Amino acid sequence: MSSPHVILLPYPAQGHVIPFLELAYCLADSGFEVTFINTDHIHVRVTEAIAAVEHDTGMINLVSIPDGLESIEERSDLVKLSVRLSEVVPKSLEELIDKINKSGDGSRITSLIADENLSWIMPVAKTMGLHTVAFWPAAAATLSLLLSIPKLAEDGVIDDKTGLAKIEEKVQLSPGMPSILPREFAWNGLFCDLKSQEALFNKLMDINKGLEFADMIICNSFHEIEAPTFKFMPKVLPIGPLLSGRRTGKAVGNFWPEDSSCISWLDKQNLSSTIYVAFGSFTVFDKLQFKELALGLELTGRPFLWVVRPDLTDQTCNAYPEGFRERIGSRGMIVGWSPQQRVLAHPSIACFVSHCGWNSTMEGVTNGVPFLCWPYFTDQFMNRTYICDVWKNGLEVSHGEDGVVSREEISGKIEKLLGDEKIKTKALALKDLAFKAISHGGSSFKNFNSLIETIKH
Ligand code: UDP
Repeated sequence: MSSPHVILLPYPAQGHVIPFLELAYCLADSGFEVTFINTDHIHVRVTEAIAAVEHDTGMINLVSIPDGLESIEERSDLVKLSVRLSEVVPKSLEELIDKINKSGDGSRITSLIADENLSWIMPVAKTMGLHTVAFWPAAAATLSLLLSIPKLAEDGVIDDKTGLAKIEEKVQLSPGMPSILPREFAWNGLFCDLKSQEALFNKLMDINKGLEFADMIICNSFHEIEAPTFKFMPKVLPIGPLLSGRRTGKAVGNFWPEDSSCISWLDKQNLSSTIYVAFGSFTVFDKLQFKELALGLELTGRPFLWVVRPDLTDQTCNAYPEGFRERIGSRGMIVGWSPQQRVLAHPSIACFVSHCGWNSTMEGVTNGVPFLCWPYFTDQFMNRTYICDVWKNGLEVSHGEDGVVSREEISGKIEKLLGDEKIKTKALALKDLAFKAISHGGSSFKNFNSLIETIKH
């Protein structure tokens, strides 16, 4: 008899593909045949980045389907991308599954694990007789807000057509859960025009409807770190943190080729001496803020590793303050894309200046690294709230009246963070909890086994 064959379908964004790929490795380790579907556009980027660093994905079969946009079209408009995906993916997926099932090698697709953001696919998979699992790659608390949309609208917290905030008070869904301002909900603050906001909000409703067809919902978190939220949503099973960075020679699913030279540079730095600065795959800075950040890092007088993606700011190569590179010399290392999970595990790292994307948050937590939070959009405000108000393993930058985070603020907050023993102790305690959760018999370990039981036949 052939192995159960699972198809994985992440949303086409960096922070989704990375944890999905680790899930794929875990399933392959458990004896599943695994087919991993990226959109054509992302498939090219992932395979090129893999080829550049000579890593591989082992037995996982990487395939691709169209995303519905022309190859030259801009993909940063997430509403447009999401709408096109929902129009073209169901048919392509059905055809792909059919092709695999008819390939003659005896393999048959038995389950689909799809990104929660693509949950409109669940009814399609159900009619094909598959086990259906939705994977949520962010904090369970953010998912709980999405699933509470009808109640939040009914209570007058948000507008029922757009999801925009109607009140300026923090909201807490259940005792112990993070309190957050409605204007900082993941779906707010993305657009200036109401039409796009409404389109996004409608898409969220479709997703929520599709989710009802999922046999199971899993997420990249762990019970101990969001216990009140899992009490509020007992059907959501956390199986994280999912960290492929610990697999030697295995690709993590980067969209940019990683620059590993920073690891040998970190090897030369003192223990707990270096500031790691990275803002994930989407965040962009205007030139003024970029300069101020550079000057803030200079002002600290400490070693730093800074990820400056080619598209982090306009004309990145000319954006540095005059003479900055010369003044910094070998004290600062700048790379286009780092092997972040390995960086955060390096003993020279003292703290993480982060946009608080959920993967970055889990990766910092698992390595016991204190955070300086600099959230930008979507779920990053929720994650900041966790770090600063709930877990207390970090601090947050403040913006000046002009909206800019000044060099003095950056350097001052880093000093404050590094001098705070309570924060360091909290960060190390969370690291312990994370490792316990994924170790044999831990909460995420057990939940992963429940997943296997659900989809193995
Ligand atoms: N990442 C990386 N190298 C970098 C910057 C980021 O490998 O230089 C990875 C990081 O480890 C994380 C992902 O990219 O797994 C970013 O996901 P996150 O949820 O933190 O942020 P997003 O990109 O979704 O905003």
